[in-house]
Amino acid sequence: MAKVGNDIGHGIDTFPPSKGVFKKGKGYAEHTFNAAVGLKIREHLQRHGVHSMEAQGANKPEVALNNRVRYYNAHNCDLVWSTHANYNDNKDVKGMGIFYWKGNEKAKRIAEYYIRLCREAGLPIWGNGVFESTNQPKSHWTNFAILRDTTSTSLLAENGFFSNDEDFERIFNTPSYIDMVAEISAKSILYGLGVQWKEGNKVATATQTKGTFRIKTGTFPNARSLADAIERVKKDFEFMFNEAADTTGFNPNYRIYTGTFSTKEAAEDVRKQIKEKYGWMTYLIDETK
Ligand SMILES: [Zn+2]
Repeated sequence: MAKVGNDIGHGIDTFPPSKGVFKKGKGYAEHTFNAAVGLKIREHLQRHGVHSMEAQGANKPEVALNNRVRYYNAHNCDLVWSTHANYNDNKDVKGMGIFYWKGNEKAKRIAEYYIRLCREAGLPIWGNGVFESTNQPKSHWTNFAILRDTTSTSLLAENGFFSNDEDFERIFNTPSYIDMVAEISAKSILYGLGVQWKEGNKVATATQTKGTFRIKTGTFPNARSLADAIERVKKDFEFMFNEAADTTGFNPNYRIYTGTFSTKEAAEDVRKQIKEKYGWMTYLIDETK
């Protein structure tokens, strides 16, 4: 099963002072947008059976770039996709852009595909949209560690400029823009992996039930069978999951608990996959507060 480094730009503690903007006394962190997009990219990847590997947690403190790179390389990711929004001192600069490392033709094709999807969605494009990253002194600003030091095909998407009023409105005040960027990003990633995009999510997007959802399995008879089950699940799914012992009477019953999903539909999708793969009974837990 393919593994994708779903890289959420920056950490929640990077703004203030940098990677964000103040408007009318209110702070807007780039990371907040990156995290919202990253979580939705994860849902798209999971429903296509692709592992989403995240070195940087959503709304968590910054993970240093060298640690991110080490994580993606250690997990042998097939592709790394880094989600960002851009900033420019010139407030007129706007639009979508994407970077790939010079010489990686596959990454270039994926970048061109992403820009094509952005154009089709009617979004403004920054320059011609596709930018080559190098370690040349002249273009030092394109020398991104996440592209330079990862062993996989890697891309860094700049989904508009939060320094531009029009882009700002999309990035921070238009929830459907997050869905749009996540879909364009996921489609580009899957294109790079050679995985066919499934349109099914359009309906799911329309009927999304937002909240905090978790899946628990039925019980396994003992710790040993639970451990075996976890081994199997770990190979196919890469949730942060924890096992828990339900102590009822004398017999502890063992279950697997997945990490959380941000929509009911995404959780139901994974329940279906678990049922198909292993035939296990599962339960949906609604932890929405
Ligand atoms: Zn950024």
